[in-house]
Amino acid sequence: MNAHAKITKLDDLNFDNRYIRELPADAEAGNHRRQVFGACYSRVEPTPVANPQRVAYSQEVAALLDLTEEACVADDFAQVFAGNRLSAGMAPYSTCYGGHQFGSWAGQLGDGRAINLGEVVNAKGERWALQLKGAGPTPYSRTADGLAVLRSSVREFLCSEAMFHLGVPTTRALSLMLTGESVIRDMFYNGNPQAEPGAVVCRVAPSFTRFGNFQLLNARGDMTVLKQLADYTIRTDFPHLGEPEPAVYIDWFAEVCRRTAEMIVHWQRVGFVHGVMNTDNMSILGLTIDYGPYGWLENYDPNWTPNTTDAENRRYRYGNQPQIAFWNLGQLANAIYPLIEQVEPLQQALNVYKQTFEQNWQAMMADKLGLTTLPTDKDLYTELLSLLELVETDMTIFYRQLALISTQYDVSDDALIAPLSAAYYVPEQLNADYKSRLIAWLKTYIKRVQQDGTSDDVRRERMNAVNPKYVLRNYLAQLAIDQAEQGDFTGVNELLDCLRDPYNEQPGNAAFAEKRPDWARQRAGCSMLSCSS
Ligand code: AMP
Ligand code: MG
Repeated sequence: MNAHAKITKLDDLNFDNRYIRELPADAEAGNHRRQVFGACYSRVEPTPVANPQRVAYSQEVAALLDLTEEACVADDFAQVFAGNRLSAGMAPYSTCYGGHQFGSWAGQLGDGRAINLGEVVNAKGERWALQLKGAGPTPYSRTADGLAVLRSSVREFLCSEAMFHLGVPTTRALSLMLTGESVIRDMFYNGNPQAEPGAVVCRVAPSFTRFGNFQLLNARGDMTVLKQLADYTIRTDFPHLGEPEPAVYIDWFAEVCRRTAEMIVHWQRVGFVHGVMNTDNMSILGLTIDYGPYGWLENYDPNWTPNTTDAENRRYRYGNQPQIAFWNLGQLANAIYPLIEQVEPLQQALNVYKQTFEQNWQAMMADKLGLTTLPTDKDLYTELLSLLELVETDMTIFYRQLALISTQYDVSDDALIAPLSAAYYVPEQLNADYKSRLIAWLKTYIKRVQQDGTSDDVRRERMNAVNPKYVLRNYLAQLAIDQAEQGDFTGVNELLDCLRDPYNEQPGNAAFAEKRPDWARQRAGCSMLSCSS
């Protein structure tokens, strides 16, 4: 196929369904709930829906698949990606995995509402797996319905794309469709079930394999399939590591550790809180996966989690994400141990996580502050982070405004902190003590910048390249959802458009950079989310 191939009809997508070709299938047929042994997946078809309607699609993801705009606006696109028609080459299936949920082993989970359509190989030879989320029950649906509602689908669709444009490793989203059917959800788990619009997102990633796929095979003592899945994953997604053998399994695990560390540092950089870092929600490729009750830090608070289901223990709070990723990698190490049968190299690989995290975190903080040299004293960071936490400070706005302060001219203390005032939620919290600490910190910071010899222009440019102006603020997503639920998709599409370019000032979109309004403080969906989706 030539490099400029343009696909106008979905039937022309080039499917090469290696996953189902090379891995063992569930021997049992039929779409009923069951435990699945000795297999990586079950064949299952999406459930047709009443009236597919396109809410939005990502032109960048369409381009990855060589799809033209014509293909994406056609009615057939809505039909196919809402689950009503299989286009040529699609061979749908759901995968089998387990996982630790909130620290406890949960046994078989699996794709309870995700159906893979197959893998497209694009004109560049890249492999992209397509997956519908919310397209009906599968053998892994347990007691649930296999469906998804519009609000959670808008959140998944927008956040996948926002994260990509922020430079955070993530699964992508091609499309967001309404099904024309309603889905019953008890959003607050308080005995108030409501009908909500049903929706389907088509997710796209090189692979959707999770730590939990390996864990379940190990838990069941199925070493044959465990090895098959590991070998398949290495050959397909880590081909640079060479043919699978014990030393390669170790290299592979070390790479998973490294990629996971890189991903977590990005999360910390942009203030993303995943909300449900169960091991079944950890991608073997180090991609952010499964956007559920995630949230974005507004006021900097390491203890914050958006997930009301985790409100008590706050296991998955912002400040705990690095430790949790490490714990999850430990579970993956246990799962693949039979392939290696040595503890020491696995432990060394786990150290790769710690080293990569530490190094990247230091570099990330230096970047956020526009420093070229990594300060040897951690005080600069720790004092800053204490200050951010002490009074309600919008993290995103703070770093953008910090880029504006002058390090080259002597200014009065008041003039020095003036640019930062936009970041504070409760200005009265800035008492004299706080202000003097902040000024002292700023003066230390200014000295460091001067030691580096960086001009303010260069520093600003550097900082603005890593400190986003626009993130998917929780309340912005909710406003777009409110509108979409009324049948108006402009909010979703405007946000999608703005979040394509998160580091540059967009005068027309200034409203999307504003801090959370007061009304959003306690409104559901804006600061608190349940797992109901
Ligand atoms: P999550 O916490 O969203 O990652 O989901 C955990 C498990 O529950 C996975 O196995 C999901 O496939 C499954 N699940 C979540 N929601 C549904 C649903 N509405 N129908 C079927 N399975 C679901
Ligand atoms: Mg999940």
